[in-house]
Amino acid sequence: MLKLVLKPGREKSLLRRHPWVFSGAVERVEGAPQSGDTVAMHAHDGRFLAWGAYSAASQIVARVWSFEREERIDADFFRRRIRAAAAAREETAAGQAGVRLVHAESDGLPGLIADRYNRIAVIQASSAGAARWKQEIADALAAIGTLDAIYDRSDSDAMELEGLAPSSGWLRGRGETRFELTEQGLRFLVDIARGHKTGFYLDQRDNRDHVGRLARGREVLNCFCYTGGFGIHALRHGAESVLSVDSSAEALAAAREIVSLNELPQDKATWLEADVFQLLRRLRDQNRRFDLIVLDPPKFAPTPASVQRAARGYKDINLLAFKLLRPGGLLATFSCSGGVSHELFQKIVASAAADAAIEAQILHRYQAAPDHPVSLHFPEGEYLKGLLCRVSA
Ligand code: SAH
Repeated sequence: MLKLVLKPGREKSLLRRHPWVFSGAVERVEGAPQSGDTVAMHAHDGRFLAWGAYSAASQIVARVWSFEREERIDADFFRRRIRAAAAAREETAAGQAGVRLVHAESDGLPGLIADRYNRIAVIQASSAGAARWKQEIADALAAIGTLDAIYDRSDSDAMELEGLAPSSGWLRGRGETRFELTEQGLRFLVDIARGHKTGFYLDQRDNRDHVGRLARGREVLNCFCYTGGFGIHALRHGAESVLSVDSSAEALAAAREIVSLNELPQDKATWLEADVFQLLRRLRDQNRRFDLIVLDPPKFAPTPASVQRAARGYKDINLLAFKLLRPGGLLATFSCSGGVSHELFQKIVASAAADAAIEAQILHRYQAAPDHPVSLHFPEGEYLKGLLCRVSA
């Protein structure tokens, strides 16, 4: 029997159904489990707490598969969990061509992401447990019946923290790795082999539409644009001009193609390969002004230890953005750092506005689209947050 026995009192988070066990909470490991093995977790007094996947290399030494003593962690377990997650998307993402089918801990499958683009799923198995069961996971996805092929993109930086080797390629079936994906009637291009993450940022789907609708007649600055994202929606909704910035030349090349695909006005779109931190300073020095600015940076705080540094990064770009807005202008600003809460993010943005010496109001709060649910027991799952602010006239 492979078993983790926790130190006295350290069972509390598992009793609240939080799915992580940190190495410091463990009193002893019995039976010499290997990374990825299923272990039983017990309180100090011997009580059964949960089944989880052991990860020798990680700070998070186990992630919970199930709190039910009777549950067996086998191929059928993954079939049940994945079927339930996919079924829920028929409500939360009905009719969408791009859908997050499995959202890791929040769907009871720690370390597993599965995104569906048309009839292709792209998975990311970034925990030892998810990696161990990858073939069963692929079979379970194939069994839901809406997929022609499954591609593996388990090559994120998070893999290293878990001591896992990166891997990518087709797991089931085959198909094109670059194809069109429709979002709110707009045609995008997704590259599942070379794009970021699984190829596309589905979490911002509804927010791109919301921000796009505010763009009519406005001069827009779209920072961290990836393959166009918010800028494509802004052009569709009649933006006066859209200046988009990203550090990835490849993403910008796709963005230009996407403008043509949608027959949007090329002359209103400018694509700039630059570092946003530097570009914002350059625009400030040139006295440029905009009516709508989008800040959708990558995760600045990948670990809890980097939150302070991340906060400085968010403050810097938000302060510069506030200075570039005309009176009455709008700022749609986001953070996808799990370690930065909504509350902290709002404080950072408020202090940026104060330092920029402007008055601003919050008009709207953003979160990830509903096919990226957050388990009530796992607040860390609420990684994406955003604010729509209006600068006083
Ligand atoms: N808004 C996009 C997603 C943005 S993801 C959408 O809706 O699809 C973050 C993007 O920031 C990535 O495309 C990455 O290439 C880019 N990036 C990261 N650091 C950057 C920097 N310092 N300057 C400019 N772009 C950066």
